[in-house]
Amino acid sequence: MDFVIAPPSVPSAPVAGSQQRFAVRRIYCVGRNYAEHAVEMGHSDREAPFFFLKPADALLPVAAGETGTMAYPGLTRNLHHEVELVVALGRGGRDIPAAQALAHVWGYAVGLDMTRRDLQAEMKQAGRPWCVAKGFEASAPIGPITPAADVPGVHRAPIALDVNGTVRQLSHIDRMIWSVAEIIEHLSAAWTLAPGDLIYTGTPAGVAAVVAGDVIEARVEGLEPLRVRIGA
Ligand code: MN
Repeated sequence: MDFVIAPPSVPSAPVAGSQQRFAVRRIYCVGRNYAEHAVEMGHSDREAPFFFLKPADALLPVAAGETGTMAYPGLTRNLHHEVELVVALGRGGRDIPAAQALAHVWGYAVGLDMTRRDLQAEMKQAGRPWCVAKGFEASAPIGPITPAADVPGVHRAPIALDVNGTVRQLSHIDRMIWSVAEIIEHLSAAWTLAPGDLIYTGTPAGVAAVVAGDVIEARVEGLEPLRVRIGA
């Protein structure tokens, strides 16, 4: 095929213990999926899961043992961390029942849904889309993806985030309001899923601001940790 401009490169994430990469098509995110975080954001009722997207090139891949750097983004004075379990799909489909959903999962990783919280609050108040608060450059750091078969305990694993060695977020994956399988069922009713899609599954309580120079370490037991330094 003959393009009038050079085609953009394919965003990709590292794979644990391998030189191969996981090619990324879309980044879906789940809103308010832990009860304590819903409360801290001012909500109390259980509600159907809701979704937003980040562009695939918002991915900030960080290899095992390395510390990624995320430049402090413009337009904000309140950049928040959100540690999340990331689901990487190896098979697509639509209207996937929860009972069959986990067969579509290639693997899992630790991710950060970095958020310009002040802009999100403005957009919420005005009833406008969250894109500017959620979908900016490097807003989706991700560590190495581990094949699902190698982490059978991930659905009950502890999930945690430290900033400069101090714990900010600590919970368990089984405290998610909607499980991974249920998320895939709901998501695949709204979009046709495909191999290469990532799903950021929501964050537990404790979201807070980071500033230039901070080092975030995000962990889910059984997965490679993810370290990101906030740049100037
Ligand atoms: Mn989130």
